[in-house]
Amino acid sequence: LKFVDILGVPFINMNQSQFVQQLNSHIQKNEKTFVVTANPEIVMKAVEEPDYMELIRKATYITADGIGVVKAAGLLGQPLPGRVTGYDTMIELLKMGNEQELKIYLLGAQQETLEKAVANIHKTYPRVQIVGSHNGFFDWESNDIQKEIQETKPDLIFVALGVPRQEKWVAENLPQFDKGIFIGVGGSFDVIAG
Ligand code: UDP
Repeated sequence: LKFVDILGVPFINMNQSQFVQQLNSHIQKNEKTFVVTANPEIVMKAVEEPDYMELIRKATYITADGIGVVKAAGLLGQPLPGRVTGYDTMIELLKMGNEQELKIYLLGAQQETLEKAVANIHKTYPRVQIVGSHNGFFDWESNDIQKEIQETKPDLIFVALGVPRQEKWVAENLPQFDKGIFIGVGGSFDVIAG
């Protein structure tokens, strides 16, 4: 595996399809995986806030979410093959989930948006098993989300709480899980809800 360092953020040097295959290998082995798809805003936030840098550096993989990151890599003489966005990765994982009948859990967005996203995923990827979902407006200290995820054992956990809450949630909760691909996907539920 090769990484490209931009201002202290180590980006995985893979294109979109290579990256999804890499995630598939972790799914097959039930290996817990944390993915951050980092746009220039995330890189700058990490540079300015050491706590946030520490948090995203807990990720198994950080991908280049945005042409700005790809261009910066090129300027640094360490080119990256292209963007690997949260939304595109989510769609590719849903396609894979449909083929393999994977279990997914959706965490985030407003309740109405979440329900529409669940309905659209069910329609477009009927073989995906949506084992649970929770909106993104919950009491941080006291909720049953972690318990629900542990009980339903999803293969894929899409976390759409916005930056930096989604990375914070995954970094804080990850030690309690023993499997699952955890990925922050920003506004993707809103897009899927249509
Ligand atoms: N969101 C959430 N809980 C929050 C804040 C935001 O679930 O406390 C959701 C929001 O509804 C949206 C997604 O996170 O579906 C992305 O939000 P936004 O576009 O504001 O964040 P960004 O990723 O662009 O920073």
